[in-house]
Amino acid sequence: MINVTVAGVGYVGLVSGSCLADFGNNVICVDKDMRKVEALRGGAIPIYEPGLDEIVARNIGEGRLSFETGLPDAVRKSDAVFIAVGTPPKDDGSANLAYVEEVAREIGRAVEKYTVVVDKSTVPVGSGQQVKAWIQEELDRRGADVPFDVVSNPEFLREGTAVYDFTHPDRVIVGAESDRARKIMKSAYRPFHLSETPYIETTLESAEMIKYASNAFLAVKISFINEIAALCEKAGADVEEVALGMGLDKRIGRDFLKAGPGYGGSCFPKDTMAIASLARQHGERLSIIEATIEANRKQRRKMLEKIERGLGGVGSINGKVFAVMGLAFKNNINDIRESPAIAICEKLAEAGAVLRVWDPAAQKEAAGHFACRGASVYFAKNEYDTFENADAFVLLTEWSQAGNLDLEKIASLMKSPVFFDLRNMYKRSEAEAAGFRYFSVGR
Ligand code: NAD
Repeated sequence: MINVTVAGVGYVGLVSGSCLADFGNNVICVDKDMRKVEALRGGAIPIYEPGLDEIVARNIGEGRLSFETGLPDAVRKSDAVFIAVGTPPKDDGSANLAYVEEVAREIGRAVEKYTVVVDKSTVPVGSGQQVKAWIQEELDRRGADVPFDVVSNPEFLREGTAVYDFTHPDRVIVGAESDRARKIMKSAYRPFHLSETPYIETTLESAEMIKYASNAFLAVKISFINEIAALCEKAGADVEEVALGMGLDKRIGRDFLKAGPGYGGSCFPKDTMAIASLARQHGERLSIIEATIEANRKQRRKMLEKIERGLGGVGSINGKVFAVMGLAFKNNINDIRESPAIAICEKLAEAGAVLRVWDPAAQKEAAGHFACRGASVYFAKNEYDTFENADAFVLLTEWSQAGNLDLEKIASLMKSPVFFDLRNMYKRSEAEAAGFRYFSVGR
């Protein structure tokens, strides 16, 4: 058991902090967003993540988890400080390390005894050394001689299954430069040793690269199957059958072979751009990853073209009422960052569509987003309210509720039953039997 500070209480920080507390560590979660901290203290969980509320409540109750806004005091009480702030993309695609620098410098100004600084944010190779330099600069400014280590411990959790992923990882990656730091990391993660979870110790740089390379590889898989889907449509194959037949090959695997509107979210788009940008800085070109980024952009355009073609060609979107199911970038979350669903809604609105949308978790987030852009959107009260007088149904996020609808009832509510199933949740035969003209991806 060790004393931990987690700086940044977003998806990664909140899940990591509360699960580390559940492992028996004493954890102070620090965020500069006062409203978020106050809400968390009052028991409100800002993200939609199954199981998280119970873990937070349990660990607050047992005195192992607290939420603060001041980093210095927390740092002074801790053996390890995890940095879990955002690393959004800059205009040139490279990762913006401004928040990481803010935290690193604050640690340098506060630290009084040996501390391990753990980079959990996704950062380009070389950032660990940069964090070290920022902390050292602040120590030098104070004339203080305090030993510290920087460790890279990238996070692989997926939103929607974040608690399970954090507590049951395929592997834990710890890039460190001293045995002292490795020992503290092992104490923090003791349950993983008891459960014999693969625990890989690497250099700082390798750990940083493992995270980017893993995310980029998964993005490649998604774009790969989306391109195969386009060919399936032309050549008369069914991408669902193709993905199953491919994925059962253990060398390939079934995950991330699901054709759809392209990848989104807070990680894949920015991480693919950041690794491509890092390569260019080093005089290399990652042509497969660059092609993936382009293929993903094209995929969204292709989905719009599919809708336009299905409705009768150029100009056919204008004035039509669209029932849109799903706004989050995937199911079981309320995160709309880089969501293909939001991007497609915006393009539909630009083309003159009237939007009726429904999402079981992300309506509040989407309302704020659309309001900022002046788009007028009707948020449905329930699934079936979405379809009132609609000219077309577009399914954009794979919520289980969206895959279990009474199609005949929907067809009767709509003005004209046309269905763009961009997540391949239904069979053509069942949609057509309910009276729909049916379009899907790669089938
Ligand atoms: P987020 O935007 O949800 O949260 C970041 C938090 O950091 C915010 O609450 C913000 O207020 C806080 N913050 C910013 N500067 C701060 C400072 N100086 N002091 C204290 N708090 C500060 O971000 P996220 O989605 O949790 O991602 C964090 C990092 O983890 C990113 O690098 C991301 O790429 C990586 N990551 C994310 C996921 C994911 O699924 N979201 C998965 C793996 C890795």
